[in-house]
Amino acid sequence: MVFPGEQVDMNVKQDNKVAMITGGSRGIGRSIVEELVRQGWLVAFTYVSNDQQAETLVAELGAGQVLALRADNTSMDSVQAATREVLEHFGRIDALVNNAGLTRDNLLLMQDKEEWDTVLNVNLNGVFNTTKSLIRHFLQQRSGAIVNVSSVAGVIGVPGQTNYCASKFGQIGFSKALALETAGRNIRVNSVCPGFIATDMTEKLTQEQYQEAVNSIPMKRFGQPAEVAALVAFLLSDAASYITGQVFVIDGGLTT
Ligand code: NAD
Repeated sequence: MVFPGEQVDMNVKQDNKVAMITGGSRGIGRSIVEELVRQGWLVAFTYVSNDQQAETLVAELGAGQVLALRADNTSMDSVQAATREVLEHFGRIDALVNNAGLTRDNLLLMQDKEEWDTVLNVNLNGVFNTTKSLIRHFLQQRSGAIVNVSSVAGVIGVPGQTNYCASKFGQIGFSKALALETAGRNIRVNSVCPGFIATDMTEKLTQEQYQEAVNSIPMKRFGQPAEVAALVAFLLSDAASYITGQVFVIDGGLTT
C-alpha cells in the first residue's frame, strides 16, 4: 500500500506476473504479447485457427514465458477450458486483456442478422465469456487488472458500423460497471480505444478509403500496434495502480 507522500516505484519489473490476452497471434494482440514479454510478464494468449502463426510467436518469444491456446471467445466452454489451462500452467493470472475483435461493416439497410450477430458475439459476448471465467479468481486473490480493447467506434458513431459501434460502446459500459463492482477488491478495469491502427483489420481499406482516413487524422498517419501495446502495458502495470473505470483514446487526434 502506498500512503500520501510516499514514492510510487514507476519502474517495477513485472517478473512472474501472468497476463492472458485474447486474439494474441497477430495485430494489436500480438504487439501486446511482445511488449508484456519484454517487460518480464509470463503471457498466455488465445487464437482461433492459425496454429502455425501461434507456434511461430511462441518460438520467437520463448516457450518458457509464453503459452498459446486455441480458444474461441464466443464459446464459454472453450474460454473456460483455456482459463483453466493457464491457471494450471502458470499457477495464477494477474491480468486480462480482451483484445479479440472483428468487423462486418455494412449500412444498417443492407446489414443482415448474421453480420450483426457475429460482431456482437465476438466483440461483446466474448468479453463477457472471458471476464466471467476469470473474475472469481481475481476476486479471491484480491487483485487483478483488466484492459478491454474497445475502439474510437466505442466513443463516436461511425456510419457503416452500427454493429461494431454497438459492441464497442457496450464494452465500455461493461468495463465501467465492472470497475465499480470490483474496485474494493483491488481489481482495475479500463478501456483502450484505438483509432486507425495498421493491422489486418485496416488492410481491408481501399487505397481511396485509406487516403481519406489519413487525411482525417490530425497526426496524418495510422498508429502502430506497438503504440497501443505500450498503453495497454502501462495500464496493466503497478504504475497505473490508482486508475480504474477509465477510457483511453489513442487515435492521433482523430476524435479531438
Ligand atoms: P486483427 O484482425 O489483426 O486481429 C484480431 C484478433 O482477434 C485475431 O488474433 C483473431 O484471431 C482474434 N479473434 C477474432 N475472432 C475471435 C474469436 N472468436 N475468439 C478469439 N479470438 C478471435 O485486428 P486488430 O486490428 O489487431 O484488432 C484487435 C482489437 O483492436 C479488436 O478488438 C479491434 O476491434 C480493436 N481495434 C482495432 C483497430 C484497428 O484500426 N486495427 C481500431 C480500433 C480498435
